Amino acid sequence: MFDFHTHSTASDGSLSPRQLAREGKNAGLQLMALTDHDNVGGVEDFLDEAEKVGLIGIPGIELSAEVPSGQLHLVGLGINAQDIALQGFCQRILLGREARNIEMLEAFNDAGIELTLEEVKAYAGEDLISRVHFAQALIKRGLAANLQDAFEKYLGKGALCYRERFRATPDVCIGHILRTEGIPIIAHPFSLDPDPQTLLPKIAELKEQGLVGMECYYSTYDIGDTIALLRIAHQLDLIPSVGSDFHGTPKPDIFLGTLTHPPALEQLWRERLA
Ligand code: AMP
Ligand code: MN
Ligand code: MN
Ligand code: MN
Repeated sequence: MFDFHTHSTASDGSLSPRQLAREGKNAGLQLMALTDHDNVGGVEDFLDEAEKVGLIGIPGIELSAEVPSGQLHLVGLGINAQDIALQGFCQRILLGREARNIEMLEAFNDAGIELTLEEVKAYAGEDLISRVHFAQALIKRGLAANLQDAFEKYLGKGALCYRERFRATPDVCIGHILRTEGIPIIAHPFSLDPDPQTLLPKIAELKEQGLVGMECYYSTYDIGDTIALLRIAHQLDLIPSVGSDFHGTPKPDIFLGTLTHPPALEQLWRERLA
């Protein structure tokens, strides 16, 4: 079994990169990628622990790209986490996040909610601050019932305290992944467009830019969703991928090792990643 989409404390997951590798092994995974948001800071520890526990660890990243509508997240598999240009790109995104965090805190203050950076940081720790950490602080304050509620009321795109942050265009994100010999994959494709008919030409355009794979097996997708995505992958000659999007406590309904997939797909990826 394999899982090519997981988060650690290096972004908005609750397990450290080492804990994540151990949990993946315990959950029965044979191959596992760490794909933190805009950040490769957890990769080294993750790979080291994976090797110790007998799991094939794959260095990865999840980049959010700028698109006119919907949300485009690109997973890069097998990237070189030591690459200076990739690290520089991540630093730019991190700076953009820092600016956005201040703007969002101001928006909360304007709305009469005196949320502080310290409260949010209590959930983010040393690493990158994401909206998930804002959500956790809001839940602690009793201002939101759960993650979904926090995004609906305050943090989701278009909600009261949402603010934009710097995102690069899809070709730039794909370019960074390819340059370090990584494999670009579209994550949770229905976030880009929930209609398979209009989604297809959008993914075709990404394929022109170098996209190689497509997440067809995803924690919140049912069998019908998966079949619709497998059909697109087949039509565009993209390799289907499997991604839980595991975050630990922030997304308590998502588990490691529960997404089933055809065994032949694992073989295909093993060869592609070799
Ligand atoms: P950020 O990278 O700070 O913009 O935050 C994005 C992260 O917030 C995503 O990767 C998800 O983990 C989470 N997220 C975004 N939208 C939602 C939503 N509607 N419900 C729950 N979590 C969400
Ligand atoms: Mn996340
Ligand atoms: Mn995502
Ligand atoms: Mn993710």
